[in-house]
Amino acid sequence: MMIFDYMEKYDFEQLLFNYDDTSGLKALICIHNTILGPALGGTRMWAYETEEDAIEDVFRLARGMTYKAAVAGLNLGGGKGVVIGDPKKEKSEELWRSFGRFVQSLNGRYITAKDVGTDHRDMNYVSMETDYVVGLIETSGDPSPFTANGVWHGMQACAEKIYGSRQLKGKKVAVQGVGNVGYHLVKHLVKDEGAEVTVTDIDPEQMRKVVDEFGVKTVKPEEIYSVDMDIFAPCALGGVLNDETIARLKCRIIAGGANNVLAEERHGDDIDKKGIVYAPDYVINAGGLINVADELRQYNKERALQSVAGIYDRVMKVLNIAERDNITTVKAADRMAEERIEKIARIRSSHIPP
Ligand code: NAD
Repeated sequence: MMIFDYMEKYDFEQLLFNYDDTSGLKALICIHNTILGPALGGTRMWAYETEEDAIEDVFRLARGMTYKAAVAGLNLGGGKGVVIGDPKKEKSEELWRSFGRFVQSLNGRYITAKDVGTDHRDMNYVSMETDYVVGLIETSGDPSPFTANGVWHGMQACAEKIYGSRQLKGKKVAVQGVGNVGYHLVKHLVKDEGAEVTVTDIDPEQMRKVVDEFGVKTVKPEEIYSVDMDIFAPCALGGVLNDETIARLKCRIIAGGANNVLAEERHGDDIDKKGIVYAPDYVINAGGLINVADELRQYNKERALQSVAGIYDRVMKVLNIAERDNITTVKAADRMAEERIEKIARIRSSHIPP
C-alpha cells in the first residue's frame, strides 16, 4: 500500500504508530479530518493477519467517522484507533494504560471510545491515563438504545417520504438481528408504533427474548429478505445487501442500524433502481455517536435524546437532496457531509488566535 498516496487521495491528516515493549502494544491512531473539531472514534482490537490490513482498516474507519460526525451536525472530526492483537488472549491492564498514554500524547486531537473487540473494562484502564475517552459506564454508558432510537426516527422520515405519514402503525417491518440495537428498535416499533414486526437472528436466545417480550413473528435467517414487508431493518452485520439479496427484497424502505450494509457502493444504485428508499447507514445509525459526543458538554441524557431525534430531519434532508439532484441517497449523504466541512473550513476569521 502506498500510504502517502492514499492519504493524499482521501485527504488524511495523520497516521500514528505506537509500540510499547512492556505491554506488547502495537497500536495505530488515524486522524482523518479535524476541520469541524477533535477527531472522535472508537478503538478496535483485532487479530489482523497483516499490518497492512490494520492500516487499511484504521484509514477506512477514521474517514467514515468524519462523514458520520459531519452529517450528524456534530463539531467533531473523524478518527479511529486500532490495537493489533487477539482480544480474547492479549488484553492486559498495562496494554490499555499504554494505549491511554498514546491517546493522551495527542492532547485532545483524538478522543477514543469502545468499539469491536474492546469493552468498558478496557476503556476504564484507558481512562486512567487520558482525559480523552468517552462512553464510560459512569458517564453516558451503553450507546445501543440511542442508536436504536435514532434508527426509529430515521425510519419515520422514510415513511413520511414514501407514505406521506411518519406513523409506522400497521407497517410490516422485518428486523435482521435482535442484539443490542435490534432489541431496542423492536421495542420502539411494537410499543410506540404498533408496527407488525418479523425478526430473525442466528442466536435463538436473542430471538426468544424478543418473542417473549413483544410477541413478534420470527423467520429463519436466510428467509428474512423474502418476507412480506414494507420496511427492511438490517441490524446485524455489514455487507448484507448484495446482488442476490437485493433481488429478493420487496420492501419500499431500507432503514436499519448496521454499519456498511451495502456489499459494494454500486448496490446503492441497484436499490435506487428498484424504487426502494435507502436511509444511508452512517446517517441513520449516528445515535450512539451523538450520545457519547454529548459528554464533551457535561453529559445530559435529555439533551442527547433530543439531538438523536434530529436524525429524522437529517435523513429527510438526505432524501430530499437525492430527489433534487437525481442521485442516490448514498451520494447525497456524502455530499451533505462534504459541503458542511467545506463551508465551515471557509468561514473567515476576524481575530488573531491566541
Ligand atoms: P450485537 O452483536 O449486539 O447484535 C447483532 C445481532 O445480530 C446478534 O444478536 C447476532 O446474533 C445477530 N446476527 C449476526 N449475524 C446474523 C445473521 N446473518 N442473521 C441474523 N442475525 C445475525 O451488535 P449491535 O451492537 O446490536 O450492533 C448491530 C449493528 O449495528 C452492527 O453492524 C454495528 O456495527 C451497528 N452499530 C451499532 C451501534 C451501537 O450503538 N451498538 C452503533 C452504530 C452502529
